[in-house]
Amino acid sequence: MKLIILDRDGVINHDSVQYIKSPEEWKPIPGSLEAISRLAESGYRVVVATNQSGVGRGLFDMDTLNAINDKMIKAVASVGGRIDAIFFCPHSAESTCDCRKPKAGMFRQIGERFNVPLENVPTVGDSLRDLQAGVSVGCTPYLVLTGKGAKTAEDPALPVGTKVFPDLAAVANHLLSSKG
Ligand SMILES: [Mg+2]
Ligand SMILES: [Zn+2]
Repeated sequence: MKLIILDRDGVINHDSVQYIKSPEEWKPIPGSLEAISRLAESGYRVVVATNQSGVGRGLFDMDTLNAINDKMIKAVASVGGRIDAIFFCPHSAESTCDCRKPKAGMFRQIGERFNVPLENVPTVGDSLRDLQAGVSVGCTPYLVLTGKGAKTAEDPALPVGTKVFPDLAAVANHLLSSKG
């Protein structure tokens, strides 16, 4: 079984410094939905792992987060794709939870849920913490330059071996041409 773990904001949809607080604010990055569709078609289980501290900060509630994620799932389905699961950390940055990236809690939960080792599982993010969380459990880090990615690319703390691509569509092309 092939698995891929994606960050949400800045990878699948446009990010906002003011958070994505409503379904209306959720807008896909061009090509990302089709990329997920191609990955799913090629046998990848596509899982999202996303920090959503806006819940912990009281900017939006769980019903709204569920509505936003529903919009994403439907948008992916509308182009023939599938998201197998969404894992999220609702806690604020000050919390001591073990799920907020760069901590590895969500990744461990994903490994348990799908019962697969996480070594060499590709993980795609636009922030350093996405990549750090993945690397800490053995995933292969892919940085996209969408969202905060262009800034992240300049960070000296970028994990060794991080592969850099313009966007999720380019990551999918790479994975499907080299390993498909
Ligand atoms: Mg992000
Ligand atoms: Zn958490």
